[in-house]
This record gives sequence, C-alpha cells and structure tokens, in this order.
Amino acid sequence: MLTVDEALHRIASHVRSPAAVRVPLADALGCRLAEDVASDIDSPSHDKSVVDGYAVRSVDFARAARGEAAEPVELAVLEEITAGQMPRQPLTSGHATRIMTGAPIPDGADAVVMVEQTSHAEEIGASMVVVTFHTDQITPGQNIKRRATSIRTGQVVLRAGATIRAAEIGLLAEVGRPGVSIVPRPRVAVLSTGNELVAPELLPAAGQIRNSNGPMLLAAARSAGATPIDLGIGRDEVDALRRLIEQGLEHDVLLLSGGVSAGKLDLVPGVLQELGVREVFHKVSVKPGKPLWFGVSGASDPPDCLVFGLPGNPVSSLVGFELFVRPALAALAGHAWQPPPTITAELGQAFVTHGNRSTYYPARLDESGERPTVELLAWQGSGDLRTITEANCLAIFAPGETEYAAGASIPVMRI
Ligand code: AMP
Ligand code: MG
Repeated sequence: MLTVDEALHRIASHVRSPAAVRVPLADALGCRLAEDVASDIDSPSHDKSVVDGYAVRSVDFARAARGEAAEPVELAVLEEITAGQMPRQPLTSGHATRIMTGAPIPDGADAVVMVEQTSHAEEIGASMVVVTFHTDQITPGQNIKRRATSIRTGQVVLRAGATIRAAEIGLLAEVGRPGVSIVPRPRVAVLSTGNELVAPELLPAAGQIRNSNGPMLLAAARSAGATPIDLGIGRDEVDALRRLIEQGLEHDVLLLSGGVSAGKLDLVPGVLQELGVREVFHKVSVKPGKPLWFGVSGASDPPDCLVFGLPGNPVSSLVGFELFVRPALAALAGHAWQPPPTITAELGQAFVTHGNRSTYYPARLDESGERPTVELLAWQGSGDLRTITEANCLAIFAPGETEYAAGASIPVMRI
C-alpha cells in the first residue's frame, strides 16, 4: 500500500500549472496575481499636506525662531484648500494658506503647521483672517508628503505570484486596475454517495443518516480558495452515479465521498473506470482514510479533472481532504506544490500505536508556552465528527507498535 508521502508525490505529478484569466478586481480576492502590475500615476500625484493646518514659508518664522520677535508670528490667510481642490494663489511673504489633509501644497510654501498649534486672531475685510502661530520651530518640509514618494509612474508595484488580499485590492485600485489577470480559483464539484443519506433538513428514518460530508467538503473546498459546486447526493446505483460523475468531470476537481471501500454497494471506482477516469492509486497506508481513491480524467496529461474518492466516514473524508486535496487545490491555484506543513510538538500524554498505517489523530495544539504541546482528544473513531470540532491539529504517529511517552516530540499538522 502507498505511504502518505508516495501518494502525495503521485498527486503532485498530475497537477497542471493553471492558465491565467482576466477578472474584475472585486473577484480577485484570495487569488494569485498572474501579471506584473505597473502604476499609471505618481502617488501622491502632488506635494500634499498630511495634516489639517496652514501652509507657510519657513523663512517667515526665522526671526521669531532666533528670539528676535516680541510677539508670536501672525500671518494673513490667503485662501482655503480642501482635498480635491487646487491652490489658486502662490504663497507670498507674510501669508499662510489654510490647508486640509491631502490637499496640494501651494507654490511658495515649504511647510505646514498643524491647526492645533494655531489660533484665529481677527477678520480683515469680508473674508481674510489672521492666524496666530503658537510655535516658531518650523522645519522646511514638515508635514508635507512629496509627489511620487510612494509610487512613481511606471513603477511595478505588484509582481506575478502575489496573493491578492484586501491591501492588494486597494493598491490595484490606486494604480488604475479595475480588472486584473489572475490564476482562477479551481472549480471543485462535490458528490456524496450513499443510499442511506438524507439532506440535513430532514429527520433520518430508520437506517438513514444525514449527509454531513457534502456540506463539509463544500466548505473545505471554499476554505482552500476553490469555487465549490454542489452535486448533491448520488444513490448507490450505476446509472445514477454515472450521470452525476459525468457532470462532476466537467470541473477541475471532483470530490466523491463514500462508495470506495470493499462493500457490496461501493460502486464508485467501477463507474469512474467505465467513464475513462484512470486510477492513479487506490488505498493509502493512513488511519483514518485508507480506502482513498485518486485518478485523473481526460485524454492528455496534465489531466482535465483530478478525481478524489474520499472514504464515507466523515473524519476519514476530512483527513483525506486535509492531507491530499488541500495541497492539490493550492497548487491548482498557482502556489508551488507543498505537502501539508507540520510542526513539532511535545505530546501531553503517553500513547501507544498499533498496526502498520500512519495515524493522524485529532488533537489540540497549544503554542502559548515555551514549546508547542499537543493534547490528544478522546476521539471515538472515523464517524466522530463532534470531537473533530474540538481539534485544531492532527497528531501524526508513524506506522508500527510504538509506545510514546508523555513529552515525546511528534509532528503535528494544523487543521
Ligand atoms: P462508505 O465508504 O460508503 O462505505 O461509507 C462509510 C461510512 O460512512 C458509512 O457508515 C456511511 O454511512 C458513512 N457515510 C457515507 N457517506 C456519508 C456522508 N455523506 N455523510 C455522513 N456519513 C457518510
Ligand atoms: Mg456507501
């Protein structure tokens, strides 16, 4: 049986490098940028004030600064400029311009004094006021942000490969990019198989269970940055499965749950084969999740669709997703291939492993202390999703009969 590493290796060899598409900016969040982006403007586009206050000429404060003036500096206010307006008059000796944050600095001014360091004195005529300054320590350039100090026209501000977060959306808007070339989100179809399954809104009759894998895998795909497509529930009948799987193969990835073990109605591998999906592997040496099936469809390699047949037990399905599907989705979204990252933590209690498979055990990782510690949860097996909701990681144990003492260092994988 394949080890987890061998299985990951085989999946990696079938993940194609994605083609870029152009989308409106609002649709690019979370995606990888597929082009270098240069600015079409300087930012700021003019020398601007970074405070609300008065634009002044520092030379008008020179005498006061040397202690040669008896009175505080008073200047006549020429005009008022708010953000979005342009100055109408150059600043001349003995004058100040009332200026708001973001507004352009008038010609002749070389500093801005915060409004908090001033007071209005008197009105002269209809509009002109005199402003009194309670400081004479004026440094040329103070409170002025010079043109193009943030971005120059033509400068590349984002490189291909950048992940687009809210900040990148803002920057792309600033540099005039309402549309952008990205690696598209993989489209992931989810089909839950099983005669026993009913929709979550129904009360299961005798022998039935609610379909928890469907909503869970759709959410997991979304959390991995993919676009999920819900194919609902497929009954354990060849014709019904064939029709739904055919729909699923239209997408980048098809996630099936159930029907891949050795049961009488485990029809999934057979139907996939009939539809020309080539089996890459079936069964991995992992607990939970052994029956996992992986194959590829399409005449060419790289394939059109990656098909994961995840085991029906919900925890097995989830572990299979975290171990094998999430890395594949990241690679399809334009990230370099990476197996699930692990960190080392100290085991909180003794533990004994049995059997010949690697075990991924639901646990709680605590990183608040000097060294990370991991506490195994009272897990009731592959059907026990409730305990998984308390887990934030899977503790990883190598195959074999091994006694781990409390305090042993083991790898853990965050979930
Ligand atoms: P299977 O792999 O189809 O044999 O299913 C294994 C176990 O998982 C059985 O107990 C199923 O009832 C259960 N199961 C299968 N599919 C789902 C599902 N979508 N949601 C919850 N449990 C499931
Ligand atoms: Mg089944």
